[in-house]
Amino acid sequence: MNADQAPFPLPLPDAVSAPYWQALSQGRLTFQRCARCGGAWLPPRPECPHCLSADWAWEDAGGRAKLISWVVYHVAYHPAFADRLPYNVAVVELAEGPRLISSIVGIDDAETLRIDQALTLAIGQEHGVAVARFRPD
Ligand SMILES: [Zn+2]
Repeated sequence: MNADQAPFPLPLPDAVSAPYWQALSQGRLTFQRCARCGGAWLPPRPECPHCLSADWAWEDAGGRAKLISWVVYHVAYHPAFADRLPYNVAVVELAEGPRLISSIVGIDDAETLRIDQALTLAIGQEHGVAVARFRPD
């Protein structure tokens, strides 16, 4: 199967995650914060991962983040990604605390990436869906 035949894997919003995807489409990266313990998290889930409270609210991220870790794929494990090799997948920590899986854009070579590197939110489009990506400062 080649990239022309493989459907691109897109998010499937549910009742909990739909507001996250809606906010991204409007240019805002949001996360959830617990009203009981103050914990903040991504990806969207119905209960606080710290204290299991269901009392939480959405907050907008300011767009500041740092690079925690990354990998560079040189093999396409899904055929829809074959035409973008090599590409990176990164773990990014927002200034507000939540971590998310993302990718770093605006770089010519992943060899330039560094742990704790300062990043800025760069919302991009993936097959018509707004996604949270980051670029080095
Ligand atoms: Zn909590």
